[in-house]
Amino acid sequence: MSIAQYHAELVLDVRTDLGEGPLWDGRARCLRFVDIVAGHIQRFDPATRTLRTLAAGGMVGCVAPRASGGLVAARADGLCAIDDAPAGPPRFLLAPAEHDATRCRFNDGKCDPQGRLWAGTMGLQGERGAGALYCFPSAGEARCVLRDVSISNGLAWSLDGATLYYIDSPTRRVDAFDFDAANATLHNRRPAVVLPPGPDVPDGCTLDAEGMLWVAHWDGGCVSRWDPRRGIQLATVAVPAPRVTSCCFGGPALEVLYITTARRGLDAAQLAQCPAAGGVFAVEAGTIGLPAVAWRG
Ligand code: CA
Repeated sequence: MSIAQYHAELVLDVRTDLGEGPLWDGRARCLRFVDIVAGHIQRFDPATRTLRTLAAGGMVGCVAPRASGGLVAARADGLCAIDDAPAGPPRFLLAPAEHDATRCRFNDGKCDPQGRLWAGTMGLQGERGAGALYCFPSAGEARCVLRDVSISNGLAWSLDGATLYYIDSPTRRVDAFDFDAANATLHNRRPAVVLPPGPDVPDGCTLDAEGMLWVAHWDGGCVSRWDPRRGIQLATVAVPAPRVTSCCFGGPALEVLYITTARRGLDAAQLAQCPAAGGVFAVEAGTIGLPAVAWRG
């Protein structure tokens, strides 16, 4: 079967250092994403083309809407709540007992279909096995669900909610787990997608309404679409920036695939060749996404 080819266009020339964690906030009709090391939580309104920046007060791995209003962010030191409209200062909520903020920081995260936030960590120097994956059922509870993680990245749940797809980037795989939704536990880890040999690693990911998985390729300049039950690649979206970090579906009908990228670590020649690196890119690729779930905590 041939692999469908798409090309993403620049929609926001924001030149983030480490743009990450895009999420369409249907409540506010905007794209949210973070610039991790800069500690920025960005809000982009495609209708008015306005960008607004909130300060997380530290490195910030991901952000999600909170069911009770405002936002929750996984900062380097743990979860914090942030008011968005009107904007207010971040309020620290909690950190897992196992989390040592002198060694690790929070990275990618997402809410499961039940509204629990899942967020993982990585060593500050990318040390192998230093990270973990945590589940936050509420503002008063954190559980370590997976240890010996190197760079905790993309998360996505299958349409029936029975499988978690998870990326620990250096493995160069997307792994599947049986997901016990009642108890928020993981079982039966196995590879779902294995990237062909190359310099790229999988970073963030999102599931579409057909149950197919879109995976961002750091140092691959693309997003790929896979059937995660068969491990077969279906499409490629070329992105004119090498360090592609994550993607999500957004827009009024969730018809636009938004893609974040990074400038971090690119040399002068690469930046001259890809001046829009660090921008947000978008493409309509013939399918729609699923609404983001708000955190119930
Ligand atoms: Ca990432």
